[in-house]
Amino acid sequence: MISWRNLLDMKNELEQGGKGHNKGEKEGIFMARDVLCEVNNCTYWGEGNKCRADQIYVVSQRGRQASDSEETDCKTFKPQDL
Ligand code: SF4
Repeated sequence: MISWRNLLDMKNELEQGGKGHNKGEKEGIFMARDVLCEVNNCTYWGEGNKCRADQIYVVSQRGRQASDSEETDCKTFKPQDL
């Protein structure tokens, strides 16, 4: 399981031009290869409900903790109209 700390570290690395997935894998951190998503008005949404973003950033609606999946959101979401 990936901790919030690891996610934040990876986000910071990506924002600083790091190698993202590869660097994370060297450190023993693995990202999901297929992210499935039903939000079909997102710029990154693709056929078969596959997310095409290079990485996604998921946040909690309650600070850094969530009680269930419904309390989490994809911060990478970008409406197709923009
Ligand atoms: S970026 Fe987030 S909202 Fe958009 S398709 Fe990927 S998982 Fe879904």
